[in-house]
Amino acid sequence: MLKIEALPAFTDNYIWLLQDEAARTCAVVDPGDAAPVLAWLHAHPDWRLSTILVTHHHHDHVGGVQQLKAATGARVYGPAAENIPACDEALGDNQRIEVLGQDLRVIAVPGHTLGHIAYFHADAEQPWLLCGDTLFAAGCGRLFEGTAAQMFDSLQRLARAPDNTLIYCTHEYTQSNLRFAQAVEPNNPEIAERVREVAQWRAADRISLPTTLEIERATNPFLRSAIPAVREAAEQHCGSRLGSDVEVFATLRAWKDRF
Ligand code: ZN
Ligand code: FE
Repeated sequence: MLKIEALPAFTDNYIWLLQDEAARTCAVVDPGDAAPVLAWLHAHPDWRLSTILVTHHHHDHVGGVQQLKAATGARVYGPAAENIPACDEALGDNQRIEVLGQDLRVIAVPGHTLGHIAYFHADAEQPWLLCGDTLFAAGCGRLFEGTAAQMFDSLQRLARAPDNTLIYCTHEYTQSNLRFAQAVEPNNPEIAERVREVAQWRAADRISLPTTLEIERATNPFLRSAIPAVREAAEQHCGSRLGSDVEVFATLRAWKDRF
């Protein structure tokens, strides 16, 4: 079992730091800025950065890759379908890699960008998922390159993981996402409870991640297109009947863009 810790970057990014304590070896995910990682390595001189995992090509996820690779010699993994700086291993859907002795499976999750990938560690006790800007706590990434149908399918794929899967996404957007979730489902008690809980955490300067798939199924509107109350809210918002869960999802995504 690895220890996974957040290194804050920019205003609301997290660079996840995966730590193999026995081997004193670590990996980082989506280092948009090298500085927080270099500061951590400087404070932990007996540790070595072996691996950089990248989910997609946006600058806030790859901005520090070249500098970190130059400083540490870390091996860089990223999506084959995107241009990732200093990439050593271009990964495609369902490919398996070993990172810090753990087996990770690549899941192609187009939508936010076309080549976006996630990394999933299947584990009988504690599975975990590194999903970049695809599935967020109580939300999902914006559709910069892909279609709503692509993002819907990507989220459905991620949602096939077990309930207790820990979800490590890249941004602290939970509070604003929950405001939207509550607008969609004002009578959902689990959303109301989560709003209270996350407000307390944020007031105490605690991060709201990781989340779990179980929590997301109960409170994330973008995983709840099939729920009648969510469909009704989407239909009311757009003023017409929606034929499929994908249309409900697309309506929610467009609604959130202007929320
Ligand atoms: Zn992004
Ligand atoms: Fe991002």
